[in-house]
Amino acid sequence: MMLYKEPAPIKDRENPFESMMSRFNVAAEVLGLDEEVYNVLKSPTRQVIVNIPVTMDDGKVRVFEGFRVMHSNILGPSKGGIRYAPDVFLDEVKALAAWMTWKCAVVDIPYGGAKGGIICDPYSMSAGEIERLTRAYTNSLIDIFGPDRDIPAPDMGTGPREMAWLMDEYSKTRGSTEHAVVTGKPLVLGGSLGRVEATGRGVMVSAMAAMEKLGMDPNKSTAVVQGFGNVGAWAAKLMAERGVKILGISDVSGAYWNDNGIDIEAAIEYKNEHNGRLEGYKGAEMMDPNELLTTKVDVLVPAAVEDVITIHNVDKIQARLIVEGANGPTSYKADSIINEKGIMVVPDILANSGGVTVSYFEWVQNRMGFKWTLQRVNERAERIMNEAFERVYAASQKYNVPMRIAAYIVAIDKVAMTYKYRGGF
Ligand code: NAD
Repeated sequence: MMLYKEPAPIKDRENPFESMMSRFNVAAEVLGLDEEVYNVLKSPTRQVIVNIPVTMDDGKVRVFEGFRVMHSNILGPSKGGIRYAPDVFLDEVKALAAWMTWKCAVVDIPYGGAKGGIICDPYSMSAGEIERLTRAYTNSLIDIFGPDRDIPAPDMGTGPREMAWLMDEYSKTRGSTEHAVVTGKPLVLGGSLGRVEATGRGVMVSAMAAMEKLGMDPNKSTAVVQGFGNVGAWAAKLMAERGVKILGISDVSGAYWNDNGIDIEAAIEYKNEHNGRLEGYKGAEMMDPNELLTTKVDVLVPAAVEDVITIHNVDKIQARLIVEGANGPTSYKADSIINEKGIMVVPDILANSGGVTVSYFEWVQNRMGFKWTLQRVNERAERIMNEAFERVYAASQKYNVPMRIAAYIVAIDKVAMTYKYRGGF
């Protein structure tokens, strides 16, 4: 019998839900949030744990554990990705679901927040096994999902392929084609132009807006990008196009450095030809991945995983600006040191919200039955990102708080006001 093994605890890792709540508490206090609303917002609306039996290729049945957490549906149907990873756990999914609530509120789109996950290693499973797992997960949550209830999307370990299976499975049970039940679909299946690059583009837009506030000239600025997946590679490419010299990049295979700036197009081409990894890339020198974050550059873009800027390295960070492409890359305990050092942080719930914004556009297009051009998608997303940046920046000035707390203030205020108008539930 094969038993699932608990992943080893990550040493010193802060609980992501507690990390999220710590910021939430600070913002709630600054805002003077009343107790009733605080109590409504502090816990997820609904948390579901499912056990999913799947017949593996060897004929044996394996049972996977999956989660779906709906943090809030005050602003509208809940929205959030599904993560396939061996070490995904409920508190992480809860934190990610809450971040989705704040993210949607910051960019002012009519969604609440949700997140899902399945404990599995998609990289060691066949396509058939992943398909059966995805369809079974969809079936077990069939009464949760829905274009007006809860709308999943891809996250780490999932992509357009899984979303297509989810949409198909959901549609079969409903007896009608339901494009709008999921976003991040393949283009031919109702996906939106511009969705793939949307998060990286939003990271670039926020980086440019922050650099302007700091009086930094992109053409004279340098940056490093941690993580060279969807978000990191697009952010690097689009920032480089605006003149920023990207000195370092990294992925799971290591960190890569070039004093003259990395040729991002060439690195992306290399990655695409090498199973999504930079391993063996010759256009740069290898460097210690830990040093990548603390080396002297103007802009640091963490775009890989959670908890990479912590009390263990925050002292050494030299960048003037951090733009968080990843969700939760900075631990709560590192916040105060960053603030003391005077580093501006464009927080995750603002910087990477370009993804959910274009997901929203995908849902709108599905419901209209009409496709937008790439230009329309990009222009509207850029406007929304810039407006959100200005709202958060204005709140940071008004309340004299860092951008992260300001983003929470903007988001919590919006959700709290909506809750009050709706009269509670
Ligand atoms: P991805 O799987 O496409 O890429 C992740 C990248 O990070 C890969 O290059 C991987 O090799 C690298 N990586 C993993 N661990 C690393 C480590 N310890 N050090 C350096 N590199 C490492 O994922 P993605 O979609 O680009 O997502 C990245 C982050 O952005 C995640 O936190 C995700 O939740 C967040 N995010 C993604 C989107 C989106 O639309 N894709 C939207 C919002 C937020």
